[in-house]
Amino acid sequence: MKSLNFDNQFTAQMPADADTGSQRKQLKNALFARVNPTPVSAPTLIHYSEDAAQLLGLSAEECTSDEFLQVFAGNKQIAGMDAHATCYGGHQFGNWAGQLGDGRAINLGEVELGGTHLMLQLKGAGPTPFSRTADGLAVLRSSLREYLCSEAMYYLGVPTTRALSLITTGEDVVRDMLYDGNAAPEKGAVVCRLSSSFVRFGHFQMLAARQELALLKAFTDFVIQREFPALDNLAADAKGTYIAWFEEVCHRTADLMVHWMRVGFVHGVMNTDNMSIIGETIDYGPYGWLEGFDPNWTPNTTDAGQRRYRYGQQPAIGQWNLMQLANAILPLIEDSKPLEDALTAYVTRYEAGWQKTMTAKLGLRAYDKDLTDRLLTLLTVSETDMTLFFRALAGIAEDTPQPFTTLAHCYYTPELLSDADKAQIETWLADYLKAAKAQGQSDEDRAVLMNQTNPKYVLRNYLSQIAIDSAEAGDYSKVDELLNALKNPYDEQPEYEHLAEKRPEWARNKAGCSMLSCSS
Ligand code: AMP
Ligand code: MG
Repeated sequence: MKSLNFDNQFTAQMPADADTGSQRKQLKNALFARVNPTPVSAPTLIHYSEDAAQLLGLSAEECTSDEFLQVFAGNKQIAGMDAHATCYGGHQFGNWAGQLGDGRAINLGEVELGGTHLMLQLKGAGPTPFSRTADGLAVLRSSLREYLCSEAMYYLGVPTTRALSLITTGEDVVRDMLYDGNAAPEKGAVVCRLSSSFVRFGHFQMLAARQELALLKAFTDFVIQREFPALDNLAADAKGTYIAWFEEVCHRTADLMVHWMRVGFVHGVMNTDNMSIIGETIDYGPYGWLEGFDPNWTPNTTDAGQRRYRYGQQPAIGQWNLMQLANAILPLIEDSKPLEDALTAYVTRYEAGWQKTMTAKLGLRAYDKDLTDRLLTLLTVSETDMTLFFRALAGIAEDTPQPFTTLAHCYYTPELLSDADKAQIETWLADYLKAAKAQGQSDEDRAVLMNQTNPKYVLRNYLSQIAIDSAEAGDYSKVDELLNALKNPYDEQPEYEHLAEKRPEWARNKAGCSMLSCSS
């Protein structure tokens, strides 16, 4: 892979821990520790993303070479790499958890790409100083979920870290998937992720918690210069720059929440250590996709009691997390007012974005609050598949006979809908079509806008589970098929119609489909 040119600015400019290796420790006055991936015995390339490889300028030949396999399994490093794990803390489920860090992620190095750069990061490549009591490894099941979802999100137009490769290690990893005392060996795997930056809110929080203010300032300056160059030196003074930067982080986070809500994505573990400073979706763990539209739904069984990270609460949690970031950087600004203002502006930004998205989801020209609010209530009356509903709605026109019949397949139990429910839906549909007409929106234009906004293909929970089950049995064809369909999520693809169907009943309460734990 001669084409990879490394320029490791983070490790060159930020302080490293004096020790190397995976000896567990609490860092002081350092942001990272050098540590190498643990070699694995029998790596096999399961999949690589051609599009992600293209970002790095890697050819198909390079991606299928033995060197690629060895490097992205963690067995070999190439010239210019500088393997390390970074230190961060975080609030987990609302409580400060102290030092966490890259417990099973190892950055290999930053690839320079003519003005931009991408960090290569292995996930599941063995212990680091931040692995605490765990092994630093990942299993095929969770690695496949990360791999599939990061690429699916990218194609949906949602900011996300990317996935370059999925490699099985040939080694077993023991996991207690349901935390029920039934630990079992599973296939180990390593994913290579790509992002301009894997910096999390928790990196800033950790430095603030250690009261290393000089380092907090140096790190913040580095992140701004690297990831927000437009803001660098924009303001007259450093404080002005930090404020402008925090405002930008609030904007990006608000926009990300709008995207998640638009496509029905539930992250599942929105701890502050899983919040990307550049506003990307990061750390695909027990995430899920809404099937029935239910604002209270979360796929994460670890959060089943509190449902802190449920679908409908994600935007509010985004703000809560930003507040923790604000607390961390307050010493740099010494004035809470501009930070509070930015947190207020987050709500305005989110609201405006959400209204714009709902307008587009309905194919309208202007936001109609009454229509939107009524619909969101109607969608919860009976279990309604969110993805199917918005696609089907695009096909309903003024002259559609019995429009409700066109929607019947979106309901999980249509037989349970009362006549009154149906009448309410019919009334809403009539009002909706009337509103579109009053706004001068033709049925055709409405459908075009809707189908650009409402995906037909999302990574339905049961579809990834089917792909996982066959992958664990050694058949990866389903992974390939799924990824191909998810590459064009807004297009009709008759050959993939079976991947756009609502959840079958067998998957309703099946582990991996609707229930996931943090165990991965
Ligand atoms: P998460 O909530 O999954 O993003 O992880 C929270 C923290 O636990 C992070 O610091 C992870 O690096 C760490 N972690 C999760 N799984 C493992 C593992 N298998 N080995 C070591 N550290 C882990
Ligand atoms: Mg994490």
